[in-house]
Amino acid sequence: SNGLMIGKRGIVMGVANNRSIAWGIAKALADQGAELALTYQGEALKKRVEPLAEELGAFVAGHCDVTEEETLDAVFATLAEHWGSIDFLVHAIAFSDKDELTGRYVETSRDNFRKTMDISVYSLTALAARAEKLMTSGGSILTLTYYGAEKVMPHYNVMGVAKAALEASVRYLAVDLGGKAIRVNAISAGPIKTLAASGIGDFRYILKWNEYNSPLKRTVTIDEVGQSALYLLSDMSSAVTGEVHHVDSGYHTVGMKAVDAPDI
Ligand code: NAD
Repeated sequence: SNGLMIGKRGIVMGVANNRSIAWGIAKALADQGAELALTYQGEALKKRVEPLAEELGAFVAGHCDVTEEETLDAVFATLAEHWGSIDFLVHAIAFSDKDELTGRYVETSRDNFRKTMDISVYSLTALAARAEKLMTSGGSILTLTYYGAEKVMPHYNVMGVAKAALEASVRYLAVDLGGKAIRVNAISAGPIKTLAASGIGDFRYILKWNEYNSPLKRTVTIDEVGQSALYLLSDMSSAVTGEVHHVDSGYHTVGMKAVDAPDI
């Protein structure tokens, strides 16, 4: 550890278990000396998040469901009370009805479209507005996106539309908050087998396809996303904002993908 994050405090939202991308990020931050707060969504996840927080010496800032405004306010009141100010925020939250992460996008229901956009897109803005008040010496906000925002990926459907809106939000927020030295960026991660990913149809096939077609010929880990997040959340990236940084073994750079991998 080089202590890149010593003296910095912040909140990581979206840890569900030890396979979560948010967990990979939290570990990388703690390893560099950051002071962390974690939240959990609902009682079922509380039991998983509490021991993980303890492992990193992080404090648990309580339950947060981004569709419930009062839980957002409660978490930020807790942070204000506990620390007074924060330096970073990680948003690793997304949701869509599993039944619509398969088949055709054209069949998306209005109800799930709204819900997907609310949880996966609006939540970043809702959190940024609250974080702005606590980032009194500037700060760094990071969200997680996917290549399905840029190109049509099988089964990603409404989540791809949501990620496109999320990436646009990153740019608008970067402009709004830039004057306060608050930076807003996204990491576009390659596919990783997490709880959320298990809702996406044919996910194993997508993993194999990425492994076969990416320049590095492999998928990525939550720890690798964590290391890249460290750059975007630390002063190493002090002139970087409004950016979507790909951590995907280079997959997005390849125009002409090969034929099917022999073993898929
Ligand atoms: P995960 O299941 O571990 O994390 C998703 C988190 O979202 C969970 O902690 C869950 O509690 C939280 N969440 C869902 N609805 C919520 C709500 N209403 N209020 C508060 N929290 C809520 O899965 P993950 O793959 O680590 O997902 C983290 C982020 O990374 C998501 O934005 C996802 O889209 C993105 N991402 C994932 C991949 C991948 O392949 N796994 C690739 C690129 C981007």
